[in-house]
Amino acid sequence: MAKKINQKCSICGRPEKEVIILLTGMDGNICDACIENAYHVLKDTLGEIQTKSSTSKTQNEFAQHKLYKPKEIKAFLDQYVIGQDEAKKVMAVAMYNHYKRLMHPPQDDVEIEKSNIIMVGETGTGKTLLAKSMARLLQLPFAVVDATVFTQAGYVGEDVESILSRLLQSCNYNVAAAERGIVYIDEIDKIGRKGDNPSITRDVSGEGVQQSLLKLLEGSEVLVPPEGGRKHPDQKMVKVNTQNILFICAGAFEGIDKMISRRVQAASIGYNAIKSGKELDRANLLQYVNAQDLRSFGLIPELLGRLPIVTYLNPLDKEALTRILTEPKNALIKQYTRLFELENIQLEVKNEAIEYMVGKAIEFKLGARGLRAICEMILTDAMFELPSQDIKDQIFVLDKEYAQQKLEKSKLGLLSAA
Ligand code: ADP
Repeated sequence: MAKKINQKCSICGRPEKEVIILLTGMDGNICDACIENAYHVLKDTLGEIQTKSSTSKTQNEFAQHKLYKPKEIKAFLDQYVIGQDEAKKVMAVAMYNHYKRLMHPPQDDVEIEKSNIIMVGETGTGKTLLAKSMARLLQLPFAVVDATVFTQAGYVGEDVESILSRLLQSCNYNVAAAERGIVYIDEIDKIGRKGDNPSITRDVSGEGVQQSLLKLLEGSEVLVPPEGGRKHPDQKMVKVNTQNILFICAGAFEGIDKMISRRVQAASIGYNAIKSGKELDRANLLQYVNAQDLRSFGLIPELLGRLPIVTYLNPLDKEALTRILTEPKNALIKQYTRLFELENIQLEVKNEAIEYMVGKAIEFKLGARGLRAICEMILTDAMFELPSQDIKDQIFVLDKEYAQQKLEKSKLGLLSAA
């Protein structure tokens, strides 16, 4: 690259002494400022080409997707989620219809409306797991957000639009893919209208958040800050259409059983109830939940109108917890067996040990989520010691005595001794 004196940039005309670098070619020169400009033009153009190709790729991929029938969806969910048959059925149908809606654009003025869902169920009963498993089967972008981090515009906290930022992040900012994704909004019960909801402790009324959720749920074009958080004027926004995004809201709605009980009792005095002759299952009132109860809990009617499908999850009993420990495709016991297997150790878990662990999860009200912690407390010592023992074809038997001994020494054991 030979340099000559008094050279100029062939593009902007600036002389060599006014620029930082001047690259010389066969018939001309280019300065650093023009190189930078050219770089940006190239980047934008290539970016556009890539976005276009990924958009059409997503559409093609989508068209090739298998349309799973509701029964197939439920059978898939059965592999991961124990029990909760009603919720699975309701969700499978909602998903099937959602998918049909995506694959067949509106015709003859008949537009299939979105089947956004609201799930009511105690914490740790499988609400998130259901939604996550569904997204896995359908290979759709999936984001889990917590309703409590959002606040009304003007207050400290995140704007509701950042829900969509999470969805964009989950599919590498592929807008077309995100526009067909599933958003799971947890703790929706915590944004109940103040006054109606006894459990509310927030200083900002959740009603404002519910209002701002409306436009996302019903389907509109929303400007999303790609990094999430609060919007600010200088930020570059991404436009996302929420028309085909499925929203699944969930919450524990603690205390809602009393509202259901009151409503059902009032209804059971009526003529219809006597005619139907059905006994009320008082042990599990959640199965009777409807939009009216959710409204009494503080969700505004407009929001409920955009969440037309209401379903519930059953509390997990001893039998369900036992099955959760052993049956699902990635059940905890299967995971530990695999971990031991990788060390050439055969793990043999006795039924009495499983019964003991489930009993402790119930005693400490830890639910399904606590099963993992209990397993860790019991098996950590073995997982620490055995790999260094270098004995061939080892068998490790986990019986009740071993489980009890390890758990009693743990933090949980101290708690029970107290
Ligand atoms: P939540 O209802 O609070 O959303 P999750 O779905 O997050 O509860 O459940 C927490 C964990 O407990 C799951 O990751 C899973 O390991 C286990 N679990 C809960 N319910 C079930 C269930 N019905 N079947 C299988 N595993 C479950």
